[in-house]
Amino acid sequence: MPIHFGTMPHHCTGTVTTAVEAYSPAGGTAHGNLDAAAYVCPNHIQTARDMWQAQNLTPYVTGATGSSRSCGGTTDFRDSVSAVTPA
Ligand SMILES: [Zn+2]
Repeated sequence: MPIHFGTMPHHCTGTVTTAVEAYSPAGGTAHGNLDAAAYVCPNHIQTARDMWQAQNLTPYVTGATGSSRSCGGTTDFRDSVSAVTPA
């Protein structure tokens, strides 16, 4: 499975506390497939949620304490890189 690392458009040096996971529907549930995740500080949780929802994904907020990523880092598990391009 390919994994693509990216960054969100904003610039922030805040401490990452939260992962906003993004799911697409599968098997009759909105949280069927984990497609991507964004690692953010508390100020950018909503930004990440909006980003995933704009891509028709269902965001799920979970803790990411101890992550080595900087705020705005993304990990994308989808096959198509083009789907990750920020709007
Ligand atoms: Zn931030």
